[in-house]
Amino acid sequence: MAGWRMLSVVVPVFDERDSLEELAGELLPVMQGIGAPFEVIFVDDGSRDGGDVVLADLARRHESIRVVRLRSNFGKGAALTAGFREARGDVVITLDADLQDDPAEIPRLLAALDEGADLVSGWKQKRNDPWNKTMPSRVFNGVARRASGVDLHDLNCGFKAYRIDVVRALAIPGEMYRFIPVIAASEGFRVAEVPVNHRARRHGSSKYGFERYLRGLLDLITISFVGRYRHRPMHFFGGLGLLLFLAGVGISIYLTIVKLLGEAIGGRPLLILGVLLIVVGIQLFTIGLVSELIQRGRLRSEEDEAASRIERVIEG
Ligand code: UDP
Ligand code: MG
Repeated sequence: MAGWRMLSVVVPVFDERDSLEELAGELLPVMQGIGAPFEVIFVDDGSRDGGDVVLADLARRHESIRVVRLRSNFGKGAALTAGFREARGDVVITLDADLQDDPAEIPRLLAALDEGADLVSGWKQKRNDPWNKTMPSRVFNGVARRASGVDLHDLNCGFKAYRIDVVRALAIPGEMYRFIPVIAASEGFRVAEVPVNHRARRHGSSKYGFERYLRGLLDLITISFVGRYRHRPMHFFGGLGLLLFLAGVGISIYLTIVKLLGEAIGGRPLLILGVLLIVVGIQLFTIGLVSELIQRGRLRSEEDEAASRIERVIEG
């Protein structure tokens, strides 16, 4: 394995009590086998099943394990962001806590980084989940692939390896962790994919139902839009607003002429359209201006917010 200075493994945990001990038992030997210094950061996303006790115990027994506990359940995205901030390695590996991701695959992810990728995403080629998860997931990935132009089969695989510069460069608001490869690619990072062994869930239950795909599709619209116009929202809103405004003004001028020629225009539907276009046009234009203002102050505060959610850090 190439000379990594240090590897950080980040594991988001929400109510996975019965998997944690076993996961550590699989993960630690794999990491030791790689030969580079490493840390394992369990981010406890406000677990309520007593898993925090198991984690504290793990941290006490293993020097390489750290536990970051969030004050409440903020969601996987927040857990990842908190873990990323705590990570001290030059490579960050993320995997789910539920034993579905097989730690034995980590060397293969790292090998892909060695070959020059900045971000390597696992691909659950044979996915061991019920059909009501795999089906919508396939649709989601298909749509996302087309919309984003990022050629991955499995965007939202929790099993990934990152060079630290990717982690530091990404701001992942809300549930946008599903689109990390898309965001990374749009920031110019090289994104690769490696098929990984995926196992069925044995303990606990999935935290997500069907509604995740609806949210995911809405997020996809946001992502495609944000990717294109984040740094220039005025080009979208302003352009569209101006277009509608001018159309409205054109209609109004036309109606004014008609009126001056002596015809009544009070009952014409076109009058309503003209007024509407002017109003909506001005609104869009103003939204563009406001977006530009917000854009200038946005990026930093998202990260600060994530940091403020950490309740405590237990050193192993
Ligand atoms: N997770 C989390 N916070 C949440 C929901 C989930 O940290 O609010 C973690 C969870 O413990 C697991 C990973 O995110 O390690 C993936 O969750 P899950 O296995 O439920 O998703 P699925 O595999 O069903 O897509
Ligand atoms: Mg799972």
